[in-house]
Amino acid sequence: MTTNHPPEAWRCGDCECVYDNEDDARECCAPRIEEGYLCPVCRGFLLDERDAIACCGWDPETPIPPTAAELEAAGQMRLPL
Ligand SMILES: [Zn+2]
Ligand SMILES: [Zn+2]
Repeated sequence: MTTNHPPEAWRCGDCECVYDNEDDARECCAPRIEEGYLCPVCRGFLLDERDAIACCGWDPETPIPPTAAELEAAGQMRLPL
């Protein structure tokens, strides 16, 4: 049995932009950043991992669903150039 975890995320404390990379969040406008997690379903930012799981009722035993952007990127990679 595998248990998955919501992706970690970092949010700029000022403009509330969310980044999947701590450095990017630091380089945003505010000196203060918040560390949290993304809901694997709606990609909403939550400070607590349990809240991220509970947000849309995601089951940690199921894989994280790909985002629309990831699906698009995967589809484009399969297209012959
Ligand atoms: Zn910012
Ligand atoms: Zn959600």
